[in-house]
Amino acid sequence: MSDKWVILCDFDGTITFDETFVAILSRFAPALSAELIPQMYDLTLTLKEGVLRIMESIESIHYPEMLEMISSAPIRKGFHEMLSVLSACHIPFLIVTGGVSEFVQAALKGTPEGVSCIYGMTVDHSGPYLKINSDLQSESELVSKVRLLDQFPGARSICIGDSVTDLQLALRCDVVIARGRLSTYLSDRNVAFFPFEDFFDVLRILDSLICGSSLEIS
Ligand SMILES: [Mg+2]
Repeated sequence: MSDKWVILCDFDGTITFDETFVAILSRFAPALSAELIPQMYDLTLTLKEGVLRIMESIESIHYPEMLEMISSAPIRKGFHEMLSVLSACHIPFLIVTGGVSEFVQAALKGTPEGVSCIYGMTVDHSGPYLKINSDLQSESELVSKVRLLDQFPGARSICIGDSVTDLQLALRCDVVIARGRLSTYLSDRNVAFFPFEDFFDVLRILDSLICGSSLEIS
C-alpha cells in the first residue's frame, strides 16, 4: 500500500465555523437562493446549475461586500495548529472549495503555511453581473473535487468536508472525515467516516492514520 498521502479539505462550513458560502449567496441573491439551495441539498438540482444561476444573478457591484463578509468569518478551532503539524510532516494539504477561491484567500488572509494550494471557482466582476469560471468543471459540478483527486494517482486520499459539495469526493477517498450534512449523506449510503467538530479532532484522527505517534499534538 502506498505510503504517500494527500489531504483534500473543503472550506465553507469545514474550515469556517459556519456555512459561509450559503450565507453569502442568501444575502446577495435571497429569492433565488431560497428557491434553489434546498434543491441542491436534496440532490434534485445539480450544484453546477444551482450555483451558476445564483452567482450570475448577482451584480458585480456587490463583489467587494462579499469579500468583506467572508474576511471576518470565524475559523474552526485547531486549524492553524493542524497545519503546523502537517507542514512538519510534509503531507500535502489542499483546500478545495465548492465556492470561490478568492473567498478562501480573503478569509485566511492569503495562503497559510502548510496549505499546498487553494482550488475553487474564479469570479470575473468586470461586467454588470458576476461571471463564474472554474478549471475543474464536470457535467454536474462547477468544482469537481474528484477531478482534483485524479491528479494524485496512487496516493492514499483523505477528504475533510461538511456538505453536498464534498459528497462525490467522499465516495472516492480512502478516508473521510466528516461533519454536518455530509455525515448524513454518508450514513444514508452506509459509508464509514470519522466525525469531527474541530481541527484538534482532525489532528487526532490523522495522527492515528498517518504518522502513528510521530505527529506531535500539543
Ligand atoms: Mg462546505
